[in-house]
Amino acid sequence: MHEWALAEAILTSAKQVAEQEKLKEVTEVTIKVGELQQIEPPILRFALSQMKSDLFKNTKFHILKAKSTLKCRVCANPWQFSLKKLDKATAEAIHFVPEAAHSFIKCPKCGSPDFEIVSGRGVWLQDIKGAK
Ligand SMILES: [Zn+2]
Repeated sequence: MHEWALAEAILTSAKQVAEQEKLKEVTEVTIKVGELQQIEPPILRFALSQMKSDLFKNTKFHILKAKSTLKCRVCANPWQFSLKKLDKATAEAIHFVPEAAHSFIKCPKCGSPDFEIVSGRGVWLQDIKGAK
C-alpha cells in the first residue's frame, strides 16, 4: 500500500475515533503494521506529519511492527514468523515482494514451503490517546 494513501486513511479513522470519544486534541496514535506489509515507517511518519490537521498538531505517532502468523498447508502447523530471524538480504527481498516469502520460509515442523499468511499483512489503529 502507498504510504501517503495509508497516512490519509489513518488520519481519517483516527479523527473518527477522536470525534466519538469527544477528544479536543489527540496526543498519541499507535499504529500497527504487519511485518509482511510493504510499508516504510519513515515515509509513513513523514506523510503523517505533512498531512495532519490541527487535531493532530501535538500527536506522537507510534508505528509498531506486528509479527506474522503463518500456517502450513501440508501439516496445518501454525507458527509465528519474525523477519528478525532472517538475514538482512532475505528480509529485504521479502519486504519488497511478500510473495517471495514462499521461496525463503519453510514450515519448521515438516519443511514444506507451502503455507498461507494468516496475519502479518495489513495496517490497523491500535490505540488513540487524547485530551477532552
Ligand atoms: Zn508443515
